[in-house]
Order: sequence, then C-alpha cells, then structure tokens
Amino acid sequence: MRKIAIIGGGQAGMPVAFGLLEKGYEVAVYTNRTPDQIREGRVMSSQCMFANALDVERRLGINFWEDECPPVEGIGFALPDPEKPDTKAVDWSGRLDRVAQATDQRIKMPVWLEEFEKRGGRVVIEDVGIAEMERISNEYDLTVLAAGKGEVVRLLERDPSRSPFDKPQRALALTYVHGLEPTPEYSRVSFNFIPGVGEYFVFPSLTLSGPCDIMVFEGVPGGPLDRFRDAQSPQEHFERSVSFLQEFLPWEGDRARNCELTDDQGYLAGSFPPTVRKPVLTLPSGNIVLGMGDAVVVNDPITGQGSNNAAKCAQVYLDSILERGEQPFDRQWMESTFEKYWEYANRVVTWTNSMLLPPTPQALALLTGAEKHPRLAHFMANAFDHPPVLFPAWADLTEAEKLIQAKAQEPVTA
Ligand SMILES: Cc1cc2nc3c(=O)[nH]c(=O)nc-3n(C[C@H](O)[C@H](O)[C@H](O)COP(=O)(O)OP(=O)(O)OC[C@H]3O[C@@H](n4cnc5c(N)ncnc54)[C@H](O)[C@@H]3O)c2cc1C
Repeated sequence: MRKIAIIGGGQAGMPVAFGLLEKGYEVAVYTNRTPDQIREGRVMSSQCMFANALDVERRLGINFWEDECPPVEGIGFALPDPEKPDTKAVDWSGRLDRVAQATDQRIKMPVWLEEFEKRGGRVVIEDVGIAEMERISNEYDLTVLAAGKGEVVRLLERDPSRSPFDKPQRALALTYVHGLEPTPEYSRVSFNFIPGVGEYFVFPSLTLSGPCDIMVFEGVPGGPLDRFRDAQSPQEHFERSVSFLQEFLPWEGDRARNCELTDDQGYLAGSFPPTVRKPVLTLPSGNIVLGMGDAVVVNDPITGQGSNNAAKCAQVYLDSILERGEQPFDRQWMESTFEKYWEYANRVVTWTNSMLLPPTPQALALLTGAEKHPRLAHFMANAFDHPPVLFPAWADLTEAEKLIQAKAQEPVTA
C-alpha cells in the first residue's frame, strides 16, 4: 500500500486525500487548524464554485451541502456610466446551464476533516515547516504541499516567467451579509466594474447562520475602494462596505438597505500578489515535495476561480498519482503532473490577470457585445465554469469579433 501525505486540509488537498483513501492508499493530512478552530475563525474566501468543480466533489461523495446551499443561477455584469454614475452604461446577465454554489469554507473544511477520519484517513494537527517536511517526506512515498497562502508555500520558488505581477493588484475585502435584496428573475454573481476604482461582486452563499450573500470588494490600491485596511471593528468594516455601494453603485446600495453582517467573523481584508510558483520543492536533505492548489498558482479573486482551480487541480493530481501505480514519484513525474494542470490553469491565469489591467479592445468588445446579444451573454456566463473556452477570443480582437458574430446569429431559446 502506498503512503501519501498531504500538507494542508483545504479545497485542493482534501479531494486528493479522499480520492486516494477510496482507492486503498494510506493517507495522512497534516493541517494547522482543528475543525473547531476553523468553525470559530474568520471567513477565508467567497469560494463560489461552478458545476465542473462541484462535480469533483460529487464524484468523491463529499458534496454534503447540495440541498442546503442556495444556487447561483447566472452571471451579471454592470459598468456605471462615467457621465451619470448613478446609471449603468453596460448591463447584461446570462444564465448558467448548471448552477454554482458557495458553501462557506468554515462549514466545509471542518466536516471534510472529520469525515476523512471517519473513512479511515489520518489527520494530524501540526504547523508544518521545513523540519516537519523533512520528517514527513522520509515517512511517505509522496508528500504534497497544499498549504494555500500559508507562509510555508513561499519555500516554493516563484516562477517569474509565469508571474507578471510582483505586488498585490487589488486591496481585497469580504463582507458576509444577511438581508440583501435578491436580483430579479434568477440569482447570480452580480459583477460591477468601476474603471480606476475597482470591482464589486456579490452572490448567494451558505454560511454558519444559514443562507447569506457574500460581498467581494476589489479596490485599486490607494483608491476609494482601498478602504478596509484600518477598519477597527466588524461593524466598521460592514459600514464601510455599505457606504461604498451607496456612493459608487447606488443600485447595489439599494439592495443592501436592510442587510447586516452575518457574524463577527464574517469579514476579511487583505491583499496578495497573484503568483505562479515552480511545483517542486527540494528540501535540504534532497527529498522532494510537490506543490498544488494556491501553493503553486494563486490568482486574484476577481474572476472567482481559486476554489475552482483547486478542485480541478485535485482531479489532475489524483488521476496522475493513481496512474503512477508502483513507480516512484520522482521529480520528472512531479513536473509533468503540474504541467498537466497548467495546460488548463494557464488560460485561467491569463484571463484573470488581464481583468486586473485596463481592458483590451477584445475584452471591451466581448463585455459590451454581451448586452446586445443574449447568446453571447450566455456564453460569457458559462465560461466561468471552464474559462479556456474564452480563448482565442479573449486574446485577439479578430477572433473576438468572429465569436460575437457567431453568437449574434445563434437563435435565442428560452
Ligand atoms: C477574498 C477572497 C475571495 C475568494 N473568492 C473566491 C471565489 O469566489 N471563488 C473561488 O473559486 N475562489 C475564491 N477564492 C480563492 C479560494 O478560496 C482559494 O483559491 C482556495 O481555497 C485554494 O485552495 P487551497 O487548498 O490551495 O488552499 P486553502 O483552501 O487556503 O487551504 C490551505 C490549507 O493549508 C493549511 N495550512 C496553511 N499553512 C499550513 C502549514 N504551515 N502547515 C499545515 N497546514 C497549513 C490551512 O489551514 C488550510 O487548511 C477567494 C480567495 C480570497 C482571498
């Protein structure tokens, strides 16, 4: 029986751990917080996951919140009119073919850790650094580092050829609320882009106190949406969230008239540079460790892809470990496993990074064209489930125009 260690009990590591356990591997998860510490702690993400990513969890039988978690049924996009900022210059929405869901990681991760032990896995609560990795990698056939944005992942070397930014591009904030007015017709991720200021998106979720909505703020550093760093209390963070909406996005401010923070830990503020790292860490002893999830590809949340990437990375790594059979998990195998994931992830990274810069002509054509052509809006919405379909159009104006033409000619069905 092969022995595998996963460091980090999060969205990337846990599905691999469950999948290997199911196939009879001896699996241990080393993670630095107990289930109760996670439940009682701060929110970590907005974690909106689209259908393909949720399928990874369904296949493993760890999709425990399907019935409880409110569905996200579409994607909306709005751009305020620079002349009349209280009205929208661009406004469209498209339905998802299959719904997305965002279950608070404070609900999901503790249950997964407990379930993993019930199924026969081993959970070790330990803050892992170099010395611990040396010990673990001596005991196991393969050690996977899935520690998200934890300090320890900085041991993996940044790959400058795949990381165009070396500083955070947005000041990020999350505000979990009850009482937000729903959108008409169907629920959605409502994206709002304010050139030069930043972005705001909001969508339904499930948190510890029941169904809620998650507000995500992406402020251009130093601008008026970079307003959360010094908030002194949960209430002040909440008030700054709502006052921003009232001032810059009045239609969203209206929806937020009667809302309140879900709980005293339902908010977050911070920033990090989007980074791609080299996947193999060589320890002082010469032992090697394979990085996965945010540890190797961490994106700005602007396109809401991190948890989706983590789940998809988990599927690629799981398949690759199983295919390897009894052969050694050597450096070449590690690099090729990561490259299989990167074939997918590089498109997500390109798309996400481009959203942090002023829009290209092709991006503008697609984002404004979707208002005129409902089939294009439908296509753009469903691209969140599999962003590579945006290419080549997202990278090339002629291709974008071809796509717009093609979608304009498609019949609109109900
Ligand atoms: C503001 C914000 C909004 C987001 N919104 C979305 C969204 O809408 N949709 C989406 O798909 N993604 C979103 N994401 C991203 C998403 O949450 C992450 O990409 C995803 O959780 C990454 O999974 P992971 O397993 O790699 O890391 P994590 O889920 O962070 O898991 C890492 C695990 O490692 C553990 N750990 C860390 N250090 C150590 C250590 N030294 N030793 C042992 N254990 C350790 C941690 O406790 C944790 O359990 C958002 C992120 C942020 C910050």
